[in-house]
Amino acid sequence: MIDFQKQLECVGSYDVVVAGGGVAGIGAAIEAARQGAKVLILEKTGLLGGMLTAGHVSPPLGNFVKNTMADELLSAAQYVYNKGRSHDMEQMKLLVTRLVEESGATVFYGCSVADVIKKDGIITHAVITTQSGLKTVAGKVFIDATGDGVLSYLSGEDVQYGREDGLVQPMSIMFTIENVSPEQTLICFHEEMDTALKKGNYLQLCKDASKNGELPPTVNIVRLYRGVVETERMVNATQANGFNPLLPEDLGKAHALLRRQIDQVVSFLKNNVEGFENIRIKQSSDGVGVRESRRVTCEYIMKSEDLLDGKKHPDVIVHKAAFCLDIHNPSGAGQSEQEGRPRNCKPYDIPYRSVLPLKTDNLLVAGRCIGGTHRAHSSYRVMNTCINVGQAVGIAAAISVKENVLPRKLDYKKIQAVLTEKGVDLFN
Ligand SMILES: Cc1cc2nc3c(=O)[nH]c(=O)nc-3n(C[C@H](O)[C@H](O)[C@H](O)COP(=O)(O)OP(=O)(O)OC[C@H]3O[C@@H](n4cnc5c(N)ncnc54)[C@H](O)[C@@H]3O)c2cc1C
Repeated sequence: MIDFQKQLECVGSYDVVVAGGGVAGIGAAIEAARQGAKVLILEKTGLLGGMLTAGHVSPPLGNFVKNTMADELLSAAQYVYNKGRSHDMEQMKLLVTRLVEESGATVFYGCSVADVIKKDGIITHAVITTQSGLKTVAGKVFIDATGDGVLSYLSGEDVQYGREDGLVQPMSIMFTIENVSPEQTLICFHEEMDTALKKGNYLQLCKDASKNGELPPTVNIVRLYRGVVETERMVNATQANGFNPLLPEDLGKAHALLRRQIDQVVSFLKNNVEGFENIRIKQSSDGVGVRESRRVTCEYIMKSEDLLDGKKHPDVIVHKAAFCLDIHNPSGAGQSEQEGRPRNCKPYDIPYRSVLPLKTDNLLVAGRCIGGTHRAHSSYRVMNTCINVGQAVGIAAAISVKENVLPRKLDYKKIQAVLTEKGVDLFN
């Protein structure tokens, strides 16, 4: 076994090390830094924001509680909640970079977490890739906000993957089209919208095209969200099934397939929908969008029943999370075979226990890899919920360092007190 501590140069020492500068990671880092911690973000790409920026995903959904990090971010981005508009990706890149910089957190771009040094249940260092080879960074508390649960997996935590048959939700590449005729107001969020066109019905057109080969067999709905301006639509349609997003070879194959699908979807829209004749692609996700991969086994595993019933928890850290069970079919087109259609959840709590993994005492998780089942994950994975989990975890990490208490031993009431002080309602 390689002795990393002896062989690798340590390039910094921080109170809180956040692996992944995506949606949850920026929430965690900004808040931990605001609470006075010396924070480092390790981000494998060259951009902060994850799916919110590089992933070209919008609109942010799931938790609209006042004074939370999601509220702050979306208000600053002048995002109009009720109109359900997609946000401007370039503005968002600027905004998240500025907020992180102003918080005082340091960012290492182009650095993947490749391993950890762990002793007696405590991570002392993350091993990172750099342009000068492998290095280490030291930390007191570590946060896994990689989406894929990378840090937890490398730390020896138990993880779960997909549903019982081992399949995960499909990967997609989202993109924006421009040049839609201003007279054409067609919007299609989901399978149950009224989408009557002058000639026929849009949803039926999609289904027919999927059957006759004009669209791929896995694409029987081309969702069209409001763009930044009336003549744009954000398109959520492409779908790569049966690939494992943790395997580099599968990612390569899925990426190529999804780029081909974009071409097919654009041709379908041009040829079949009035007002879409002159559309062109404006922007797309940098890489493949991963809906689901690892979920870390934590002290509490959220279940779909908890969400459907709107379960409350004494150790609530995110209150009134609200989004349906949105399971894109792992083995075909549309929604999951078991579900048929998304089922609504009642506003539910996310407990502190669901961010505490079992085997590492100074590790917290945030974002889509927190503790939950495949079905529960399909709801709490949305971005407002992820960033607010990140915020709470950032507070937990900062207090742990300040008071020299391991996150597992931390009194959750202290996290709640900081959120309440900020005006976040956790109980009503
Ligand atoms: C196609 C698609 C459509 C979606 N639609 C919506 C929607 O309309 N509304 C909504 O609210 N949500 C939507 N979601 C869900 C939502 O975008 C994600 O679940 C959410 O962004 C997850 O946040 P996260 O912080 O856990 O992960 P991410 O935002 O993916 O961030 C993870 C970050 O970690 C970095 N990273 C990964 N591994 C490492 C490593 N080893 N070392 C260093 N850095 C690493 C990544 O580069 C990334 O920046 C969609 C998701 C997909 C894929």
